[in-house]
Amino acid sequence: MFSYRHAFHAGNHADVLKHVTLVATLRHLMRKDAPLTLIDTHAGAGVYRLDDGAAQTSGEALDGIARLQALRSAAISDQNPASASAHSTPIATNNIASALTDYLDLVASFNASAARGGWRVYPGSPFLMHALMSEPARAPVHDRLRLFELHPSDAPALDAHVAQLAAGRQIAVARQDGFEGLKALLPPPVAAGGSRRALVLIDPSYEIKSDYAKVAACMQDSLRRFPTGVYLVWYPIIPRPEAHGLPRRLKTLAQQTGRAWLHASLHVGAAPEGGGLSASGMFVFNPPHTLKLALDAALPQILQVLGAGRGRGQAWSVENGGASPR
Ligand code: SAM
Repeated sequence: MFSYRHAFHAGNHADVLKHVTLVATLRHLMRKDAPLTLIDTHAGAGVYRLDDGAAQTSGEALDGIARLQALRSAAISDQNPASASAHSTPIATNNIASALTDYLDLVASFNASAARGGWRVYPGSPFLMHALMSEPARAPVHDRLRLFELHPSDAPALDAHVAQLAAGRQIAVARQDGFEGLKALLPPPVAAGGSRRALVLIDPSYEIKSDYAKVAACMQDSLRRFPTGVYLVWYPIIPRPEAHGLPRRLKTLAQQTGRAWLHASLHVGAAPEGGGLSASGMFVFNPPHTLKLALDAALPQILQVLGAGRGRGQAWSVENGGASPR
């Protein structure tokens, strides 16, 4: 336990899938003025350096967010007629999916001082959520962010990073088991206007195989406590029965509880040197009705960029079903 450090994986293809889905979901939820409780049961360190030892050793961000940064840079310079067509990119730079552009613009906002070089900072889910809730148009709504992290090094790192945001009581960090801590937060409090709204990201490291069963049990319990919450579950696609079984279990649970659901997956293909994670999925309960269209447009583009030079098994999918969309 606790050999997993997200710093080695920050900005890889799995983070891209997870965070594009998270940002697109939150954007939709934030169209309404009623405050949201945002919960990250497995928060990590919050924000990561891409130029430090961990990211450089693994090289995962280089094959992930760095490639997408290059696409964004090409798109920006193609908007300038003087340099148009100077780049060769796998997709037309004037046709980048809006969910992908939105996500990349958000990551870019953490790298404003590195406009001309490679991005040095990658925001994890807590910082992406905080960035969206503190945008000028959204800040007056006063969303709340609740974070859980257990790692003996990443928990204090998260504390320190969150302290720098000076967000006061809007953000609370607990060094506690996220599966357990979530129970006390659901249902969320009634906000001004009388509504209860929450988005929960469940993103364990699956270091121990009991995490798969814990995710399923946690979702069953959470839907009982707060059936209308929006829940996003990330999972790795690896040759392990528990991993294959998890999306099936979650889909069955959605159907049994009458909840709308969406299941997205991204397989970037085998790495040339072999090894490493090459696919992952996101399962969403009560997804916004806009999410399928957003991912249908973004995932094939992400795959074209991140799959370049990789081996077989490249694929993406977005499936949904269930009760009427929100
Ligand atoms: N959600 C983060 C993001 O997207 O930026 C990444 C999280 S990382 C995949 C999973 C994190 O969960 C690790 O930092 C790990 O230390 C932490 N963790 C593992 N078991 C936990 C538990 N039971 N409760 C809370 N955190 C846990």
